Amino acid sequence: MQRIALFPGSFDPFTIGHVDILHRSLNLFDKIVVGVGNNSNKQTMFTIDQRMKWIKDSLKDLSTVEVQSYDKLTVDFAKKIGAQFILRGLRTSTDFQFEKAIAQMNTLMDAKIETIFILSSPEYAPVSSTIVRDIIKNGGDVSRFVASGVKL
Ligand code: ADP
Repeated sequence: MQRIALFPGSFDPFTIGHVDILHRSLNLFDKIVVGVGNNSNKQTMFTIDQRMKWIKDSLKDLSTVEVQSYDKLTVDFAKKIGAQFILRGLRTSTDFQFEKAIAQMNTLMDAKIETIFILSSPEYAPVSSTIVRDIIKNGGDVSRFVASGVKL
């Protein structure tokens, strides 16, 4: 059976931290689907089309990675695409507390889907889409922090 992982997130925008988690996970799975959340309740700086294009452009050389958008529940989307794993990155203990609750709730909803956590590389731990958006809003240069396909 193919080992398929869903890497879900808002990716608003896609950063070098996201790329790092993805690259380090390539050998663990036969296929990774980057699931870009398209939740109408969540206000994003960049549209779903923009976020997806930047991710696709950044990952175009990776043959085992696909990019898809989804709404509604992450476990339901994982089931739909045949993923047995949900992949998440951890930077801090705050991430851990938050991610633990979500992963455990997902397990209660579907015990067959396992969440796999990859620790952030130390050099990428401070990089977050939230801070990148703040820098953009204030006219700063974020080119060092975003993935190669992100063109601002
Ligand atoms: P969400 O909106 O679901 O929080 P994000 O787009 O912010 O999604 O992040 C997607 C995933 O990538 C999350 O698991 C997050 O913890 C992880 N992540 C974000 N930035 C980094 C980073 N610098 N290093 C490692 N993991 C990260």
